[in-house]
Amino acid sequence: MSTAPAPAPASTKRRVLTGDTPTGRLHLGHFVGSLENRLRLQDQYDCYFLLANMHAFTTRADKPAEIRQDTIEIVKDWLAAGIDPARSTIVLQTEVPAIAELTWFFAMLLPFNKVMRNPTLKTEIDAKGLGDTYSFGFPMYAVGQCADILAFRPDLVPVGEDQEAHIEMCRDVALKFNQLYCGVGNRVPPEEHEQAGGVFPVPKALIGRIGRLPGIDGKQKMSKSLGNAIMLSDAPKEVQKKIGKITTGRQSPTEPGDTSNILFTFVRAFIHDQARIAELERRYAAGDNLGDGHIKQELAERINELLEPMRQRRAEFEKPGGDDHVIDIIRAGTKRANQVAEETLHLAKKAMKLDFGRRTLG
Ligand code: ATP
Ligand code: MG
Repeated sequence: MSTAPAPAPASTKRRVLTGDTPTGRLHLGHFVGSLENRLRLQDQYDCYFLLANMHAFTTRADKPAEIRQDTIEIVKDWLAAGIDPARSTIVLQTEVPAIAELTWFFAMLLPFNKVMRNPTLKTEIDAKGLGDTYSFGFPMYAVGQCADILAFRPDLVPVGEDQEAHIEMCRDVALKFNQLYCGVGNRVPPEEHEQAGGVFPVPKALIGRIGRLPGIDGKQKMSKSLGNAIMLSDAPKEVQKKIGKITTGRQSPTEPGDTSNILFTFVRAFIHDQARIAELERRYAAGDNLGDGHIKQELAERINELLEPMRQRRAEFEKPGGDDHVIDIIRAGTKRANQVAEETLHLAKKAMKLDFGRRTLG
């Protein structure tokens, strides 16, 4: 296996930051919610893709070996999907100390009760059955995510709908920091904060083509932690089997069906021929001898067509030495990322009158 490609050179382009938590492999929800946008933005922007491995510990502190392997598997999923480490920077959260330091500063800018009321955290606590025994670090991850993002001073954050509340909190932090420490006036609109002397641009969420893909259970959002996901790395048969599990409650192919059901949500997400979608919808609604099984078969074929090139690219990294190659890519990207994050930390500390010294990371 060849050595890691040289990381993307320093860029004058505007930046994009987003990431995934290594709590499992990537699924179709990631693809339509965020990954598609990342692929599209790779050339226009200086892109940073973060492996939020610190955040994986907030719910799985007892599983360090799994978190390590999931970190590597997520990079394989990214590369398989077409993320190119020669154009984009892959960043490992735990090797970027500026993120942890900014987390502390930002924690002081957010009211405790506001963090605890964050709807995304509440939904996660319910969906993952965390009850009231979750760690102190769990809600802290929402603050940490503001630092993940702002450490790179990006304009755009491509995410799924479930992340909107987090991005809103991150925008609040940027506004407050710029007002408090950089003399930006209260009336300056967010998009003008940087020009007005703020350290941080106020980043915007970029929601994917489908902001919230449901899981095959039809209840929760598709999620790595809930066992309701079709993985980008699933074998063709596995995809077929999982699609087969979708239930609509319809009894026969001649029963008029409801095209707002979960099956049709998937049809509209993964069949790209609009005329074909319209035909399926019309026949389904009319009960025109169109069985769920027939639609599932066609749907699985389209999904498998999408995933096949990814499977082939992924196979390259599954050969002996593949994990080491991925680790080389992570190291090279993280080194480059640290240059940006250290610069941000320096600017933030200067604004906070904390510029007593300037370090360089080895
Ligand atoms: P976990 O269950 O561990 O929280 P997850 O499946 O929610 O995992 P994350 O790593 O939390 O995945 O999310 C990574 C990105 O993918 C985020 O931008 C998130 O909004 C997006 N995303 C996750 N699930 C979906 C989904 N079902 N539909 C659309 N976007 C999604
Ligand atoms: Mg999540």
